[in-house]
Amino acid sequence: MLSARFKPWHVPLFLAKYAYLTVRRRPVLVHFEVTMRCNARCGFCDYWKTSPAARAEELKSFADAARYFNPMVIAFTGGEPTLRADLELLVRGVADAVHLKYITLITHGGMLTPQRARSLWDAGINQFNISLDYLDERHDAARGIPGLTARIFGALDGIRAEGVDNIRFNTVIKSDNLDQLLPIVRRARELGCGVNFSLYTDSKNGNRMHLIDGDRTVELEEVTAELLAFKRDNRGVITNSDHYLESIPRYARGELTEPCRSGIRTIHVDPTGHVKRCPDFPTDFHWTEFKQYRPVACNACFYACRGEAEAPMRFSRVRDVMA
Ligand code: SF4
Ligand code: SF4
Repeated sequence: MLSARFKPWHVPLFLAKYAYLTVRRRPVLVHFEVTMRCNARCGFCDYWKTSPAARAEELKSFADAARYFNPMVIAFTGGEPTLRADLELLVRGVADAVHLKYITLITHGGMLTPQRARSLWDAGINQFNISLDYLDERHDAARGIPGLTARIFGALDGIRAEGVDNIRFNTVIKSDNLDQLLPIVRRARELGCGVNFSLYTDSKNGNRMHLIDGDRTVELEEVTAELLAFKRDNRGVITNSDHYLESIPRYARGELTEPCRSGIRTIHVDPTGHVKRCPDFPTDFHWTEFKQYRPVACNACFYACRGEAEAPMRFSRVRDVMA
């Protein structure tokens, strides 16, 4: 489900860049956290508690950092990136700085009007990732934004009418939404959208409310098996690798103990230009002083960005990209 902006002949070019970055041990994916501020109120994340005064410290451009890392995939994230009125300028600066790249925007979607989506698309966004953990008002409650779900679905037709053809839902797999995963995937297929799953853990702020207990791992195994079966029959809707989905029950059972490789293929650059290996670790240095990361003995999460970085380049992954 890549944007029509990309053609099949782009695939070998991206694969070549992926190989080049891997050999050079450079990050393939760079997240630019353009602000820590957020107007949601999620119980499992404290970014929304960031002082409005932090705005003064936010970089006015990430272009130099983007040029330095020259990654294949760039994600604009936060906090809530659409809070920045100059987000289009940030995106365009980065898009102009890197030649072969794929740029995504991660947002809760509460302020993503068709007009804003279009201007961000024109600035260089290739894919919108909208958080969606439930299909009903449970999502509004979880994010602390009244009417959020209706707002997201109400805007989708308009966004697509503006020519934006690449929207994905980012769905966190939690203890209380296992019944929602397949319905979200089916709705996404009807709408021509994709879905990217990530497993909930309490590593952001210690909130254990949504953790999947050990006695529910059989249920988790069943639902991930259903997602894999759906994926086999409907390539291009679920965008996770087979490897990641297969590994989720293993992580929940405590069977994944390999050191985390975050920071090697993916890094996060915070609003002030400082680099951290993952969203939940402190920063280590400014991007101008970047040093390569090594695997770390941490098993606190199994976010998609961690699990996908560990996914081998199997034939199924190439089929995913082609789909
Ligand atoms: S999880 Fe996302 S939407 Fe929720 S408070 Fe954190 S940054 Fe905001
Ligand atoms: S497991 Fe890796 S990605 Fe997750 S919190 Fe630890 S270092 Fe970060």
